[in-house]
Amino acid sequence: MSNQVKNIAVLGSTGSIGTQTLEVIGENPSLFRVYILTAHSNADLLIEQALKFNPEYAIICDERKYQEVKQALFNTGIKVLAGHTAIVETVTHPDIDMVLTAMVGFAGLEPTIAAIKAGKDIALANKETLVVAGELITDLAKQHGVKILPVDSEHSAIFQCLAGEEGNTIEKIILTASGGPFRGKTLEFLAGVTRELALKHPNWVMGAKITIDSATLMNKGLEVIEAKWLFDLQTSQIDVVVHPQSIIHSMVQFEDGSIKGQMGLPDMKLPIQYALAYPTRLKNNFKRFDFTAYPNLTFEKPDIDTFRNLGLAFEALKRGGNMPCIINAANEIAVAGFLADDISFLAMSDVVESCMQKITYQAQPSQADYLNTDKETRIFAQNLIKQMPLKAYNLI
Ligand code: NDP
Ligand code: MG
Repeated sequence: MSNQVKNIAVLGSTGSIGTQTLEVIGENPSLFRVYILTAHSNADLLIEQALKFNPEYAIICDERKYQEVKQALFNTGIKVLAGHTAIVETVTHPDIDMVLTAMVGFAGLEPTIAAIKAGKDIALANKETLVVAGELITDLAKQHGVKILPVDSEHSAIFQCLAGEEGNTIEKIILTASGGPFRGKTLEFLAGVTRELALKHPNWVMGAKITIDSATLMNKGLEVIEAKWLFDLQTSQIDVVVHPQSIIHSMVQFEDGSIKGQMGLPDMKLPIQYALAYPTRLKNNFKRFDFTAYPNLTFEKPDIDTFRNLGLAFEALKRGGNMPCIINAANEIAVAGFLADDISFLAMSDVVESCMQKITYQAQPSQADYLNTDKETRIFAQNLIKQMPLKAYNLI
């Protein structure tokens, strides 16, 4: 790495990945500087972060919070902006070296495209962007010569396994999945699952949306799609294995049958740090893995009959076009519906499946088509949820 300090735009700085990114940056002030901080509506934390990291820009999406942030940062020299468009425009600033995308959902798409077009390397946590428009994003990245460095732990693991393997053919990759909090449970059990139960992940503390996605296995489905685009794979080259301890973060099997995996305690700061400093490994004091503390690392098949979302995601990937965009939008609405206690746990897969059947399929979507598909799917899914029995799990 050059001696120059890297200017980083941290999009979604107030979230789980965002705050851990700031921890990594805070530990390495000679290597990284925060250039932009963004939040959706958490003004208090954005202000606190801005005062600590002194970025050029602090951007709050929710325009109602603008005055509050502006006043708190008055006289600091930090420029305060509001709204989604401000993010899209500011990420292109010539002084930015890397954009870390840690906002949640479809909202990541436009800023990521703008950053790539401006030649910024992307540290990608916001997997939904690659799910929605993987082909478009990877083509743009090639065209503009930018790197997409994975932050998602599984993809970081694969990326690390591929270091030094240029020119060697991948037979397949094996994505590991913790199985979530309901591994081994039956459909009868899942029918009665509450929001509170679903928000308790056994191995990772994360934002609400990805925690629910982990409980339904949609997260693994989204990661299969993310992996296809990041590593240019066929669907048949991607396997998923449940590994409840989350110690092996994923594996690559090469043509000679040899398998490389990347291991460690579950801690997102490691993949974040690897993406920020790539290709350098930075010394840190994160807790180390002790093999004797884990005498049993176990592996099992995912149960796609019970956790239908994983199968639906594979199907969406096979169909291609705007189908992954459809499942992403349907899933975002379904998860929001579940978190609002409007639909049951199992109904989330029903919403996704109905959208896959009903929304107009397009084989070769443009960027505008993705925006339309997203909008159309959201409206359809919202209407569908209105017709579903309220809090279905209370009726059982
Ligand atoms: P959080 O919910 O914890 O944080 C989301 C961040 O994005 C917050 O800063 C939030 O602001 C902001 N945000 C939310 N909605 C919008 C929006 N519509 N427009 C702009 N900003 C928005 O999520 P996570 O950190 O858990 O996840 C972020 C991304 O990283 C997701 O795509 C997730 O799939 C991915 N990821 C997360 C992992 C994890 O361990 N958490 C692991 C691997 C991937 P505010 O705080 O103001 O609401
Ligand atoms: Mg992951």
